[in-house]
Amino acid sequence: MDQDLVITVTEIYGSIQGESSYAGLPCTFVRLTGCPLRCKWCDTAYGFTGGQQKSIAMILSEVKAIGLPLVELTGGEPLAQKNCVPLAKKLVEAGYRVLIETSGSEDVSTLPTEVHIIMDLKAPGSGMSDRNMFKNLDHLKPSDEIKMVLAHRDDFDWAISIMEQFKLSERFNVLLSCAFGLLQPKDLCEWMVAAKVGARLNLQQHKYIWHPRAKGV
Ligand code: SF4
Repeated sequence: MDQDLVITVTEIYGSIQGESSYAGLPCTFVRLTGCPLRCKWCDTAYGFTGGQQKSIAMILSEVKAIGLPLVELTGGEPLAQKNCVPLAKKLVEAGYRVLIETSGSEDVSTLPTEVHIIMDLKAPGSGMSDRNMFKNLDHLKPSDEIKMVLAHRDDFDWAISIMEQFKLSERFNVLLSCAFGLLQPKDLCEWMVAAKVGARLNLQQHKYIWHPRAKGV
């Protein structure tokens, strides 16, 4: 495979993984530039444009220099760049535990099976729910994770109905998140307990540790 394939990258940095079942672990983040979606509450709009073109070899070198065994490909929407899949393969081959956070609007079927997929399903409050590719669910492994970011009670009710429709709790790990500043974690906790929901509360730990709008953390 050609290590000279080029990818546009917003930032590469080491931090604590703030979300998913990997939350709390030191992790290198490779944030790829660009996203075809425009979620109303997006917190990484700075990654829509710009970035630096880097070869896969350059990215691997930066990841190696940071020296953490866990690496997350994120964005933006990492799978919007076709060279994301070759990058994921190279990282797997290099021995990293690779996570990818994807919006679910791009095909995940070509990712190596070793990659742990954290796939968003977009609730109506994002304004992007018509972009959900539910056929992606057929390509996920039982160990992969479905994340739904919720802005209000209607989003929570939508999440419950989607979980029932696709039997998500029986098939995957399901994470429910608050759109930061729009839905209070306390409210979501109460709804989850009352609904006896088969999902895990997913707080963005980095937003409680650092400033909510801090970059590179
Ligand atoms: S998919 Fe992610 S990066 Fe893209 S607009 Fe939505 S929240 Fe932002």
